[in-house]
Amino acid sequence: MAIKKKPKSATKKASVKIKPSAKPKAKKQPAKKPQTKKKPTKKKALKPQVISNPSDFESFAKTFIPYRPNKTEKYMNKSQKKHFISILNAWKEALDSEQEKTEQLIQQDQSNFPDSLDRAAKEEEFMLELRKRERERKLISKIEMSMKDIDDDLYGYCETCGVEIGIKRLEARPTATQCIDCKTVDEIKEKQQFG
Ligand SMILES: [Zn+2]
Repeated sequence: MAIKKKPKSATKKASVKIKPSAKPKAKKQPAKKPQTKKKPTKKKALKPQVISNPSDFESFAKTFIPYRPNKTEKYMNKSQKKHFISILNAWKEALDSEQEKTEQLIQQDQSNFPDSLDRAAKEEEFMLELRKRERERKLISKIEMSMKDIDDDLYGYCETCGVEIGIKRLEARPTATQCIDCKTVDEIKEKQQFG
């Protein structure tokens, strides 16, 4: 089934059906000024790496090609370490620049006291920004810890039981320090304690 697309450039509304009762309008006046294309279309700018929210690694993870180990290679060998170092580095860079932006927003808000009318909204925004900064800081320090673990040959092993965390899990959560089982157990314990 072929679907006809409306031509983008059409300025007039396609008035296919005209009500018979409708009086013919007086001369149509051009409602809009003709669009002037002033910007010359130069070379396309380099693809910007759009990372909507680097604090959410899931979206960020999609920018990496998953590692494919061959059957004989050793877990956390040099090339695997290299793979995770580059992921961690890129993630940290993105977070660093995101944190700069957050910091700017916070400072703007601090120096820009709003009227009482939108004060409440502003305050909430401000709180969100503070929380965002906190989250980013935590993540950055986790990433730094992971980098140190790589240096110390500890990266990729569960800190609780010592088992291999696994490439797949690490690619989804590069700062993971526990295997999925220990993590789950801990989360259940936490819920029992605080829930
Ligand atoms: Zn474990």
